[in-house]
Amino acid sequence: MLPVPKPALDPHVVFDTCTATAKPLTARTRLQALKDTVAKAATEYDTAATNQALHTLTHLQDEPDGKPDKTGGLNAQLKKTYTSRMVHKKSSGRGFYDQLLAGAPDGRCALCGHGIADTLDHQLPKTSYPLLAVTPANLVPACRDCNFYKGEQAPVSANKQTLHPYYDGQVHDHVWLFARIVGPPKPGVSFYASPPPDMPPLLAARIRHHFTKLRLARLYNPQAGPELRYLSRSLRQLTPEAIADHLQERAENWTAIEGPNSWQAALYRALASDVWYTTGGYKEACT
Ligand SMILES: [Zn+2]
Repeated sequence: MLPVPKPALDPHVVFDTCTATAKPLTARTRLQALKDTVAKAATEYDTAATNQALHTLTHLQDEPDGKPDKTGGLNAQLKKTYTSRMVHKKSSGRGFYDQLLAGAPDGRCALCGHGIADTLDHQLPKTSYPLLAVTPANLVPACRDCNFYKGEQAPVSANKQTLHPYYDGQVHDHVWLFARIVGPPKPGVSFYASPPPDMPPLLAARIRHHFTKLRLARLYNPQAGPELRYLSRSLRQLTPEAIADHLQERAENWTAIEGPNSWQAALYRALASDVWYTTGGYKEACT
C-alpha cells in the first residue's frame, strides 16, 4: 500500500457539481436535496476511517428518503452519480475524477504499489454505500486487478478492512513485508506478510487481510525473476565477501526510496541474509 495524501476536495462541492445537471429533473431535485446528507456522511466517513472503523457505517446503506420511485430510487440515482456524472468523459464531475486519479504516486496503484492506476476504487463499495459514491476520501486511485479482487463486498468487521492509502500510512512505521528465498537448485522468491508482535493487533490483522485479499504475493513473486537473473551476472563482479554487504545496501536504498514494505526492499533484505544465495546460489539463476 502506498500512502497518498487525503484529497483536499470538499465533498459537498463535489456532490453539488456532479448532480447539478442530473436528468431527469425529478432525479436532480431529489439528489440536490441530499447535499447536506451526503456531506454529513462524508464527515462520518472521515472519522470512522481515522479510527479504523469503516465497518461501523452500515446505517449509511439505507435508502436516504424512503421507497424507490420510477427513477429507480435514490440509491440507484446516487450510484449513477458516480458512473454518469463523474466517470463519464463529458460529465460535470469528470474534473474531480481526473484530479483524484492524478493523486496516484507515479501513476501507480495505491493499493498494491505496483499496478497502473487507471481507475478509482471505492474503499466502501458504492453498491452498499451509495451515499459515498462520489465522496473524495472514499475514492482511491487503483489498478484494475486490485479493484477486481477487492470486489463489491463491504467490510463486515474491523479486521476485514483493507488498508486505506489516505488514512493508514502508519503501517509503514513497521516492517511487515518479507521474502523467502527458495533454493537450491535455482533461487526463487516467495513474498509474505508477517506483522511484528509489537504492532497493534487490528493493524496487523488488516495488513494480513489486505495482502491476501488483493493477492499481492501473486503480483510480487514474478517481479523477482528478472532481478535474480540480473544479479546472477552483476554479483560475479564482486568479491565473495562484498556480496552480502552490497545486497544489504540495496535493501537500505530501496527502503529509503520505496519504504520498508516495498517488494524491492523485502527482496534485498532476504537476499542479503540468505547464506546459500550470497555464497554462490546467486549464480544459479541463469543456469
Ligand atoms: Zn493494484
